[in-house]
Amino acid sequence: MTLYDPEEPPVFVDPRFRRGFQDRIVRWYRRKGRDLPWRSISSAYQVAVSEILLQQTQATRVAPVFQRFVTRWPRVQDLHAAPLADVKQLTDPLGYHIRGTWLKELARIVVERHGGQMPDSLAALRELPGLGPYAAAAVYVFGLRRRAALLDTNIARVLTRAVGLPSDGSVYRDDRRLRELAEQLVPARRHYDYHQGLMDVGATVCVSRSPRCPGCPLRRICRAVTSSPPVAVWHERGVAMAAERTVGYRVGSTTAVRPAATDSSGLKPG
Ligand code: SF4
Repeated sequence: MTLYDPEEPPVFVDPRFRRGFQDRIVRWYRRKGRDLPWRSISSAYQVAVSEILLQQTQATRVAPVFQRFVTRWPRVQDLHAAPLADVKQLTDPLGYHIRGTWLKELARIVVERHGGQMPDSLAALRELPGLGPYAAAAVYVFGLRRRAALLDTNIARVLTRAVGLPSDGSVYRDDRRLRELAEQLVPARRHYDYHQGLMDVGATVCVSRSPRCPGCPLRRICRAVTSSPPVAVWHERGVAMAAERTVGYRVGSTTAVRPAATDSSGLKPG
């Protein structure tokens, strides 16, 4: 049975693969997940602050600003009462200056229209300033502890490599199969740890140019590694580059490209 058949959508995820994928990510996260300040919070408002600060900015730069922000304005009512200039003074050094205005406007809407509580539906979260589809889903999953599929650049890269899903990294947002895959892989429970782990694997292990496969929790089931012939993605620069698309494999100076239309072998259940 194949994991993925490009001729017969929708995507089918073998239950054994799904369980193995989820278990590996969750176990790895509990042992090796990054210690980031927004991971100890349970306030949906503070998760929204972290998501807006993280847009187009590295987590290491955001961490100290986030801590100062939520120390000064721990509740959405505190932010609503704060002068915009004070907010921008803290957030503008991160660049992307619009986010100070977004945060103030978000606070106003939450206080005035939602009684000071973050809305508890994805649709309502998406209407808040600064929360696009991904950030709204992140607030839903991490702040409200609800089940939804998150899909950002890092997660898309891990998923496409792990299952061998042909996908141009630059257009994954429009890839219906990738969204279906992401939705099918989210566990019924443990989805908080699952998503945090998936993001950490994408940010620290399955990185874009030189994936660190030997230390990856998915190495025994990952299509980029277990395909035949195996793609030793960590051995050579050129190979790692090729793994980005998962259907065009380059080894040293020899290039072996499998067109997406014929790459239907899928992943054998691991
Ligand atoms: S085994 Fe390598 S290519 Fe596969 S998910 Fe892990 S780091 Fe990425």
